[in-house]
Amino acid sequence: MSALDAIRKVETFVISIPREIPYLGPLRPAETVNSRGYFVRQGNGTIYPSSDMSVLIKITAESGLIGWGETYGVAAPEAVTSIIDELLSPVLIGRDPAAPRIIHEDLYDLMRVRGFFGGYYLDALAGVDIAIWDLLGKLLRVPLSTLLGGRRRDVLPAYVSGLPKATLRERCDLAVAWVARGYRAVKFAAVVSDEGVVREMAALREAVGSDVRIMADLHWKYSAPDAIRLIRRLAEYDLAFAEAPCQPEDLEGQAAVARAGVAPVALGEELRTAFEYRPRFEARAMGVIQPEIGHTGVVEFMQICDMARTFHVPVMPHASISCGIFMAASLHAASTLQNMPFHEYQHSIFDKNLALVTGDMACGNGGYTVPSGPGLGVEPRDEMFQYVRSRTLAGS
Ligand code: MG
Repeated sequence: MSALDAIRKVETFVISIPREIPYLGPLRPAETVNSRGYFVRQGNGTIYPSSDMSVLIKITAESGLIGWGETYGVAAPEAVTSIIDELLSPVLIGRDPAAPRIIHEDLYDLMRVRGFFGGYYLDALAGVDIAIWDLLGKLLRVPLSTLLGGRRRDVLPAYVSGLPKATLRERCDLAVAWVARGYRAVKFAAVVSDEGVVREMAALREAVGSDVRIMADLHWKYSAPDAIRLIRRLAEYDLAFAEAPCQPEDLEGQAAVARAGVAPVALGEELRTAFEYRPRFEARAMGVIQPEIGHTGVVEFMQICDMARTFHVPVMPHASISCGIFMAASLHAASTLQNMPFHEYQHSIFDKNLALVTGDMACGNGGYTVPSGPGLGVEPRDEMFQYVRSRTLAGS
């Protein structure tokens, strides 16, 4: 079979977009931005960037067509760009973009014996994979969703994620405002529930009424017994799902919480491959899965979702910090799924960054519009590149 085209060049860009209010809301006492631009949330001990950081990948073909990808870049993004520039790019030159799945498998093999089957290496693969799919869609002049087997719908229900306000009263008001704009589900973060998670849930339920779904992100904070006790109390206020109740390493704990059967356990934002998901499916540890395409890429995302189908588990794709490119990939992939009740909507990131990409991707009236153009249907505008972080000035 003759090649459709060939990859000529692979480039990477670290994007750092300023934001006024930090991710997950205003900083608490003892939370300060360090010299490299990061701060640690006291509530979960996790490090976050003070800007929205991401990694863009640009793949140029011999034909001149360009594919865009994006991967997770919230912390030390140069780890990912180094992997792509140093290891993946030379191997990709000359490959036919018509074989994204084969390329993904080949790249995965490169570092397997060294134990790199997760983490930054898979993030690098995810960004490259999305760019190759975008290139293939443009070559064939069809949207990514068509390449993946067909789009079920053009509009996807969105749940509002995060209520980045300083006080419980303000967070409740914000939830009510989103409901008034047509959204039927809201997720709050336990890690910034200063007055207690149960109090937060009770106040939100009171504010939004009985028809709106409320999810709680527990941020890996609890032992299994503590999580079960907490979820029982939240369930009194009709909890839709409990996200990440126990630490990711605690598979037995996650399964125990799921087995308690009080509310569905939602997991998976930190997992990158079908191999990582498989034992959790087998342990029946997940009532909802939350793959993040910025970590998985398209090939693994679809394999994970195929596996979810065989375990009858719904998919609610996770959406964290994207400059818009991997969000588009996520919407295309999600639009093909039969059991996809909601796609996460990080309004404080998505809305701001939408101006930096072309195309008709949008979120409004409770739903996302899946882009209609070929490939991802979105590309970075010139304005995106004002936010490229210089390698030499990183963090300064
Ligand atoms: Mg989460």
